[in-house]
Parts: sequence; structure tokens; C-alpha cells
Amino acid sequence: MSTAAPTSLGARVVAGERRALARAITLVESTRSDHRAEAGALLDDVLPATGNAVRVGITGTPGAGKSTFIEELGTRLTARGHRVAVLAIDPSSRRSGGSILGDKTRMESLARNPGAFIRPSPSAGTLGGVARRTREAALLCEAAGFDVVVVETVGVGQSEVAVADMVDCFLLLAAPGGGDELQGIKRGIIELADVIVVNKADGDLLPAAKRAVSDHRHAAHLLRPKHPGWTVPVVAASALQGAGIDEVWEDVERLVAHLREGGALDRLRADQAVAWMWDEVREQLVESFRADPAVAGRVGEVEGSVRSGERSPTTGARHLLAAHGTPLASEATPSEDP
Ligand code: GDP
Repeated sequence: MSTAAPTSLGARVVAGERRALARAITLVESTRSDHRAEAGALLDDVLPATGNAVRVGITGTPGAGKSTFIEELGTRLTARGHRVAVLAIDPSSRRSGGSILGDKTRMESLARNPGAFIRPSPSAGTLGGVARRTREAALLCEAAGFDVVVVETVGVGQSEVAVADMVDCFLLLAAPGGGDELQGIKRGIIELADVIVVNKADGDLLPAAKRAVSDHRHAAHLLRPKHPGWTVPVVAASALQGAGIDEVWEDVERLVAHLREGGALDRLRADQAVAWMWDEVREQLVESFRADPAVAGRVGEVEGSVRSGERSPTTGARHLLAAHGTPLASEATPSEDP
């Protein structure tokens, strides 16, 4: 053979080596600063090989059927020759001590499928940190040749916004509820959705699912369109019986084609990349701020005074910024400072 085997981690990821991909993701998940620098270089390395995947986000309340749906969809797509990566964002583990998505064994058959790659949510950190690492992992998967990247999140908190900001198409998976209202679904999440799936449209739940479909159609029509010319489709599906799954995928492809026309997809991705850069700036500024000994030496006292109501949060922040030597926007350093 005249071509030498690729040696750098980035080249091995691009060559599609699974172990290299797993290692690369472990590297981007590390919070060590030397690892962060290495991860940045690695991402730059693989960047030319990215951008060729359909990026899909999926959210839904716990129990709506996300893992059943993704397993069914992923199995169909891999059977058609697609390579499917599934990543997750679950910031719930931080507060509750047990994650909603991560702990149970999920998508067992897809996990064994050679055309699929499943990576659970990074387990620790702020939502911003978890989202950042998942975005980076998604790029690595694209570079490794996965042409469908699914990012799953649980429908609690702000993680849906983070996922909607990193994908081309955001799916809301709803399950029929008992009552009239759209069960467990906040209006803010409906606003993010490009496609709404009402799952569990089977058996005894079928009548409730039909009602949920018309409720969601109504709700979706009241909103200002997220993309001009795109009406949010509401699809009834049964992940358990495999019904409606192909229709959902057709809608995903239809949206991507719609966005490609006129260059909206490139603009969306470019906007997302710039917003991501600013997220990164914020995260790194806060990290280096907290690591500053002059700040660390005052954090306890200033936090205590804000907690007790002795100082306003605004003044507390100004004290810490002054300790760090950050020039303050308007007036000088607070005068009561020792
Ligand atoms: P997740 O928490 O959103 O990932 O939900 P799961 O995929 O774990 O599903 C939660 C429960 O709903 C499981 O018991 C599934 O078997 C069931 N389920 C999922 N999809 C369907 C469906 O299409 N129809 C019915 N009847 N049950 C479903």
C-alpha cells in the first residue's frame, strides 16, 4: 500500500475509525484546559469534513417515547444505508443527582447496529457546558461520516433551546394526554418546533392522539412561522408499531430541502456557528474569571452579602468584577470597597 494509515486523531476520525471517534468525543468532553486546547485544534482539523449531515433535534417529556421513536427511525435509516449518530443533552443529572435520559439502558438494538453510534449525555456541568460538548461531539460524528445526527433532549428546562440552536430541524415528540390541554408541553417549546409528532397513536390511545393532533395543529397555526414558507406539520405516529415514522422523516427532508433553496440552511448554520462562538467566549470568560485568585478570595464574602440582602446582586457583581480588574462600564469601583 502506498498510502500510510492516518496517524493524527483528526485524520483517524475522518477515516471513520470508531475508536478514534469515541476517543475524540472523550477529549472534547474533558474540562482540563490542556485538553480544551487540544480539542479546539482537533475540531479545526476535522472541520472541512463536516457539514454534510442532516442535523435533527428531538425533544419530548419523559415517557413520550423518544427512545422508542429514535430506535425505530434509526433502524429504518440505517437499513436504507444512512449512518446515524445519536447524542443526548441531559442537564437534569446535575440537580437531581440522577439523569432522566442517561441512566436507563436505552435504544439497545440501535446501539448494536453497526450503522449507528450512540453517545449518552455528558454527565456533569452547566447546561452551557453540556450543550457545548454535545455540539462538538456532533461535528466529530459528521466528520466521521455519519450523515444523520440526532440530538435528543428531555423536555424540561432550557435544554430544548440549546438543542434547537444546533440543528437544522427540531422535532417535538408529544404523547396524547388525558385532558384537553397539550399535556406537559410549554408554549415556548411549540414555538421551537419545525415538525410536531404525536406519538402513541395506537390502541386505546388513538382517539386521544387524534384530538392531540388537531390541538397541536391549532396551536402551531397560531404561531408566527419560524421559517418563511414552512407550515409546521403535525404527524400522528406509533413508534411502537412503526407507523408514521417514514412520514416524519419525509417532513424532515422536506424542511431541509426547503431551507436549502435560497441558501437559508447555510445562513441558519452560519448564525448558529457565530452564536456558538459567543457562547464559548462567555463560558471561557466566566471560567477564567472564577479561576482568578483575586476573585476566588472574595467570592465567599460577596456571595454571602448578596445572599443576606446586605448587597444587591448588581453591586455584588461589580465587586467581583473590580477584584478581577475588569474595567466597569459606567461609574468607577464601588466606593465602600476596602
Ligand atoms: P422516553 O422517556 O421519551 O424516551 O420514552 P420511551 O421511549 O422510553 O417510552 C416510554 C414508554 O412508552 C415505554 O413503555 C414505551 O414502550 C411506550 N411507548 C413508546 N412509544 C409508544 C407508542 O408508539 N405507543 C405506545 N402505546 N406506547 C409507546
